[in-house]
Amino acid sequence: MNNCIFCKIVSHEIPSDIVLEDEKFLIFKDIRPKAQIHLLIIPKKHLGPVNILTAEDKEVVGEMILKARGIAEKIGVSQSGYRLIFNVGKDAGMEVDHLHLHLLAGKSMPF
Ligand code: 5GP
Ligand code: ZN
Repeated sequence: MNNCIFCKIVSHEIPSDIVLEDEKFLIFKDIRPKAQIHLLIIPKKHLGPVNILTAEDKEVVGEMILKARGIAEKIGVSQSGYRLIFNVGKDAGMEVDHLHLHLLAGKSMPF
């Protein structure tokens, strides 16, 4: 039984504010935004965090970054700027172990 909260968001079992969905990825708004714009880019297939990725996952990770760039263009923050973050482990405050990339943009971006 998969108890992963992001897998439940992928299956729409848990509602979320979806910005983009395609065959392989889901982009949705973070429920506790840390900046004016705070999106999460996730693969639909459950993958663990960066520290347990393998060489087999490198294509997915590359695609996630390109997805993030694409959504940044679409929502109009490419020129003004944005930050992409992978939190890894407890000192980084990582709370969900389904691989996810944060996109932060707008005023008051944390460092
Ligand atoms: P982490 O700290 O693991 O890198 O980031 C997980 C992020 O997921 C957090 O910023 C948190 O606010 C967000 N999050 C946790 N649960 C939910 C949820 O049920 N829905 C949405 N939209 N975001 C969530
Ligand atoms: Zn998952």
